[in-house]
Amino acid sequence: MNKPRILWLNVIFFTVTLVGALVWVPWHGVVNGFDGVEWLTFIVLVFASGMSITGGYHRLWSHKAYKAHPIVRFAYALGGALAFQNSALHWASDHRVHHKHVDVNDKDPYSANKGFWFSHIGWMLREYQPERYNDYQNARDLQNDRIVMWQHRNYLWLALLMNIGLPALLGWFNGDVLSMVLLAGLLRLVIVHHCTFFINSLAHVWGSQPYTDRNTARDNGILAVLTYGEGYHNFHHIFEHDYRNGIRWWHYDPTKWLIKALSWVKLATDLRQVPDEKIETAKLQMQLKHTQHKLSRLPNAEQMLAQLQHEYELLKQHLTDYYLAKKALLEAKGHQLKEQDLHAQAAQLRQAFYQQLRRWQQYTAHIA
Ligand SMILES: [Zn+2]
Ligand SMILES: [Zn+2]
Repeated sequence: MNKPRILWLNVIFFTVTLVGALVWVPWHGVVNGFDGVEWLTFIVLVFASGMSITGGYHRLWSHKAYKAHPIVRFAYALGGALAFQNSALHWASDHRVHHKHVDVNDKDPYSANKGFWFSHIGWMLREYQPERYNDYQNARDLQNDRIVMWQHRNYLWLALLMNIGLPALLGWFNGDVLSMVLLAGLLRLVIVHHCTFFINSLAHVWGSQPYTDRNTARDNGILAVLTYGEGYHNFHHIFEHDYRNGIRWWHYDPTKWLIKALSWVKLATDLRQVPDEKIETAKLQMQLKHTQHKLSRLPNAEQMLAQLQHEYELLKQHLTDYYLAKKALLEAKGHQLKEQDLHAQAAQLRQAFYQQLRRWQQYTAHIA
């Protein structure tokens, strides 16, 4: 089979920027040194460009996990140009195909089933899906966003301006143009490139699958640190419209914190969040599946499986009862008498649920 045409411009671009970051930047650092302002600008631009991808391109434009004020969208459009990962329209269109056909080799543009190299960067080095390149039918909603379309039409010069012009200007203010362009321009670009590319590559091979095993996406706390919180990719692939990727408060998800902070000052609204009950259910289903698999190899499998199913049904019932009570309590807000009653009821059901959950955990751990 003939391989698709090599996209030489992309090959040269990724190679030259990588070699420059690995050789020229350290060499310049040794000979010339970098000052504190240059390092600070580097860090600020790492977050500005990276989080324009995760908060803007990804959670806002690809998944509509919230709504954002035009000021925020404009900042994302500039930050996305700084990240040099194509226009938001193009990126989001690709990403929606990735979710819809995840792991299907001839459809998912960066299918992890085609290997680490392909899903990381290889997919951009050859013309794999030329028929889809300018087809943005799956992003019609974004075509109504004037900021998205402005960025799409002006992408190339915006990207050059942000990557060379901005660092050069900041360097001029600081008294050394070349050092700033090398650190806050070149090195920053390469680091943000590969860190965000990890979401397509590493986050589909390394980590756990607590919510679903219907695709290759993984949850990985270490990777979250490198990807502005996008390391909780197993959760993300099953609940893609949730504005969070790391759902617990201790999960490192600065993109979630940014969106939440924007909502406090009314620059972000309609933050979408999956009900806890659904998340809990997905997790329990995975535990059930794992335990069923282990039990099926035992001699008395049938009897054990029936017992497991019974425990599971019981737990599901407790879970439903508890969340129904919580919902009723929420709806009764303001009616003091009613609220008191429901409060006591919810507390009781909560206790029953957690009791059964502990039982379930002991039971499944015992089998493991
Ligand atoms: Zn993915
Ligand atoms: Zn996504």
